[in-house]
Amino acid sequence: MFSKILIANRGEIALRVLRAAQELGISTVAVHSTADAEAMHVKLAHESVCLGPPPARESYLNIPAIIAACQITGAEAVHPGYGFLSENAHFAEILAAHNIAFIGPKPEHIRIMGDKIEAKRTAISLGIPCVPGSSGALNHAEEALDIAEGIGFPVLIKAASGGGGRGMKVAHSRDEFASAVATASSEAKAAFGDGSVYLEKYLENPRHIEIQVLGDGRGNAVHLGERDCSLQRRHQKVWEESPSPVLDETQREEICEICAVAMRKLGYLGVGTIEFLYKDGKFYFIEMNTRIQVEHPVTEMITGFDLVNEQIKIAAGQPLSIIQDQVVVRGHAIECRINAEDPTTFTPSPGRIGQYHTPGGIGIRIDSAAYAGYKIPPTYDSLIGKLIVHGPNRKEALMRLRRALDEFIVDGIKTTIPLFQRLVNNADIQNGQYSIHWLEAFLAAVA
Ligand code: ADP
Repeated sequence: MFSKILIANRGEIALRVLRAAQELGISTVAVHSTADAEAMHVKLAHESVCLGPPPARESYLNIPAIIAACQITGAEAVHPGYGFLSENAHFAEILAAHNIAFIGPKPEHIRIMGDKIEAKRTAISLGIPCVPGSSGALNHAEEALDIAEGIGFPVLIKAASGGGGRGMKVAHSRDEFASAVATASSEAKAAFGDGSVYLEKYLENPRHIEIQVLGDGRGNAVHLGERDCSLQRRHQKVWEESPSPVLDETQREEICEICAVAMRKLGYLGVGTIEFLYKDGKFYFIEMNTRIQVEHPVTEMITGFDLVNEQIKIAAGQPLSIIQDQVVVRGHAIECRINAEDPTTFTPSPGRIGQYHTPGGIGIRIDSAAYAGYKIPPTYDSLIGKLIVHGPNRKEALMRLRRALDEFIVDGIKTTIPLFQRLVNNADIQNGQYSIHWLEAFLAAVA
């Protein structure tokens, strides 16, 4: 096992990793920008190193500074958290070249899954169901139109190098097609420096359901069930839960098994998430994330399994600590992402937190790096914490969530807590009836 690891991240995930490391008896090194000198992860780590000024490219994305921090402190491994360098294959390779372990997947798998066309090709070869579409980037306008007609309108034109939901255009008919391709391609060129686009059948009002997987890199892999992340705003997840309110046991078992088998074939190492759109009883692969995800606590609450602890052990070369039969789902869990934002306009609300009181009691988990008197810098994302509740079933989890939200006090800044108070009392949410467009329609209707 490692004796010291460096946590190349900030906020709640830095704290999450720190907690796992401390429980394993591993010393921790925090890194931070000058904007984060007072951050909780810096206060709680055994050592800390300032990487540079607030902009991420000069601090949390500054690879030479992070390598230097490892060398100065003698850290043997780096946990990248999510975002920043977590899905950067080049970073993983540079660490290896310096004899520092990367707590994450093999670089080649990060690279494949980071390329949307390659990811889809790989998924198909592994037996994962995909959205019908072009087999690669579009070359000629005429050929593209033929493919679109073959798939059937509406179709979605997607940027090969896209991310964060950008560079996508829907074409509902033949007439709209040429201009949609041109717009998507020029937007992709401007945003990602690569104008290549590909085609997919556009699925109307699907759900987003993803499968958590875990592998040892030597052909052993398990799944830990699904998470339903259909409640989104601007392609950003807002509320995640498990089990999905719309899957029956047979459907769940089938898709989860497909994913576990695929990861065994791939020789996947570490944790990963295979994301699907789900519509009329069918699953369609959209992408795989090769990192720990924001919503991983939902899975931890229903399985009792510590995913970050496992990530560290796998990176140190230990075998998986569970086999598939030991993965048992108990009850229901829901996560709310609490952002420092106005709950109706979603304008960021950085600044100093006054009073801060988190809910407690049975079935409540808070993953947050906030504290009374903490000043949220305006430089980074607005996630200040995650409230995760667990109950014996969905109905009781919702009741518990309602009372937990009522107990949560964050003064001095605006937060999205009032949005969740409205959601938890909404009939569609209570019935589990929502697609990926539900939240935006709900927000537009009340605006
Ligand atoms: P990104 O990497 O930009 O996040 P994704 O492929 O994950 O791109 O797609 C982002 C979102 O766009 C999905 O979560 C879903 O809401 C929507 N989307 C993607 N593909 C389709 C599709 N074929 N039909 C309908 N919606 C889609």
